[in-house]
Amino acid sequence: MEPRPILWIVIPCYNEEQVLPLTAPLFLHKLQQLAAVGKISENSRVLFVNDGSKDKTWEIICDLAKEDGHFIGICQSRNRGHQNAVLAGLMEAKNRCDITISIDCDGQDDINAMDEMVDKYLEGYEIVYGVRSKRETDTWFKRTTAEGFYKLMNAMGAEVVYNHADYRLISSRVLDQFADFEEVNIFLRGMVPLVGFPSATVTYERSARLAGESHYPLRKMIALAFNGITSLSVKPINLITGFGVLFSLFGIMLMIWAIVGAILGNTVAGWASTICIICLLGGIQLISLGIIGQYIGKTYLETKRRPRYIISERTWEKSERRWIEAGQAGDAGTNTTLKE
Ligand code: UDP
Ligand code: MG
Repeated sequence: MEPRPILWIVIPCYNEEQVLPLTAPLFLHKLQQLAAVGKISENSRVLFVNDGSKDKTWEIICDLAKEDGHFIGICQSRNRGHQNAVLAGLMEAKNRCDITISIDCDGQDDINAMDEMVDKYLEGYEIVYGVRSKRETDTWFKRTTAEGFYKLMNAMGAEVVYNHADYRLISSRVLDQFADFEEVNIFLRGMVPLVGFPSATVTYERSARLAGESHYPLRKMIALAFNGITSLSVKPINLITGFGVLFSLFGIMLMIWAIVGAILGNTVAGWASTICIICLLGGIQLISLGIIGQYIGKTYLETKRRPRYIISERTWEKSERRWIEAGQAGDAGTNTTLKE
């Protein structure tokens, strides 16, 4: 029989001291359940990525790691945002497991969809996207803005799977290739489809957060959409060029109109329209410059080639150190097996 795949569940956590103690046992239970039915290896892990939290999140993760060897954690040296936290976790997992599932730590995404995700992997799919079927528990505002987000992304040429956030299964084969995508401005939802490989989707219902508050207010959602578009697509630049051509034609017509008006001797009457046009064009030019500036800014950041994440601590290194001190070196990250 083919050995069962080792699964690492990758969970970004930022200031989640309220919700982590509630959801951590659920993740472990899911891991045990999947191992019990023989879908995954008993050497699977739950990996928490502490994204520079200012509260007790890292202490909680360290305690969890002490309690049960299946809980492990890494700590980013500072807060770098959700996307970089997930990336750090995936890159950390890549060479130590066969499959990863990334999921938020707030219990909003239904962990039972993992069964189906692993099934799809066993059928031969290398990427499985979790897609939200309903958003009934989200407020009307969150739902409308979030759905608008996916539509805007696609309209602007950044291909994303509709209603798919960062709940997905990725095999380590795909992650090996993904590691070659070295950009600093990362938007995982749009980048993963670019790697290719056979993919499938699994639908699930999104529920309310179990505790704590969302870190994605409207401001951050707009920033994420903007970052996604400008990181993945140059369509806005093409649009600007199109606008430019259109308004130049319009401008030529206006010039003819103005000249004719001047010849006929009624120039003063045109004052208001001139001001309007100046304002309008001024606005459009500023927006256009702004968008182009965004791309230049991104190019600047990419040329710096700064690291995308920095891990300052790992729970298993801590325990390894302890073990070595006690005279029994070992690898806490890989040796524990699951018992129900
Ligand atoms: N998160 C993170 N770094 C941040 C912001 C958020 O790692 O700077 C994590 C957070 O702990 C959670 C996930 O990203 O696990 C999604 O955040 P949240 O639930 O606040 O967003 P929402 O589900 O409301 O869009
Ligand atoms: Mg959430």
